[in-house]
Amino acid sequence: MKKFLGFIALVALLTGGSWELQAQSKKTKPAAETVAVKQYKPIIGISATDSSPVSAPLTYVSAVKSAGGVPLVIPMTSDKAQIEAVLEVVDAVVMTGGEDVDPLKGYGEEPIRALGEIVPERDVFDIMLIKMAVEKGLPVLGICRGEQLMNVAFGGTLYQDIPSQVPSSYIKHNQRAPRNYGTHSIDITEGSLLHKQLGVTSIAVNSYHHQAVKDPAPGFKVTAVSKDGIVEAIEKADSDRVWGVQFHPEGFVSMGDDSFLGIFKHLVEKAKETK
Ligand code: MN
Repeated sequence: MKKFLGFIALVALLTGGSWELQAQSKKTKPAAETVAVKQYKPIIGISATDSSPVSAPLTYVSAVKSAGGVPLVIPMTSDKAQIEAVLEVVDAVVMTGGEDVDPLKGYGEEPIRALGEIVPERDVFDIMLIKMAVEKGLPVLGICRGEQLMNVAFGGTLYQDIPSQVPSSYIKHNQRAPRNYGTHSIDITEGSLLHKQLGVTSIAVNSYHHQAVKDPAPGFKVTAVSKDGIVEAIEKADSDRVWGVQFHPEGFVSMGDDSFLGIFKHLVEKAKETK
């Protein structure tokens, strides 16, 4: 008997006590329960911004939570294996706003003088993340720069600077007003994802951009425009889970204004279907 106990102790030592861990995880986490929990609160990845490459503004985090998702910031990286591993964990992705997109690398145009700041590492990260997430069938919502990047990632082009490249544009797209205040209206295509999410074909949005989608990427369609014809939303034509908006819905939702909550609710609903 003593010998037998000694043998058990030796095995436990050699296996680093993993027997116990296995037994515990089997007891506390039945597979069915894990799935049920995930279906109830899906994990929504949020792309990090470059000001701190491991964090994202609280407004995005808060909007995801308001819609019933669990926010998880995805740190910036150019390592494909890292992104692959993260996409195994998250059920959907939000691409955040930020700087201008590099026109030369992004869509083969020389930079005009009015181009703003570009962050090459972030372009690389964002484009990898969007492409890999869409390839995997995950829902992806692009916001502002995220929407523009989505278009570029799939072969579309941008206006580098609306004031200098679109003479017919007369609307102020760079508002000086609170983030939860809509300053210009948009017209939304009937039957589009955005129409289903918001339940209206016209709404006032906030606006903080000087770039915009020019030619939509092949396979994408424009689903909202401002009164001066600037693209304010796009969606992937053959999908119910890949779309982008030029405005900032998280600016409203994080301040308790639910008129744009439908956008994040849709993301969370689709995220529940992915796993
Ligand atoms: Mn605008």
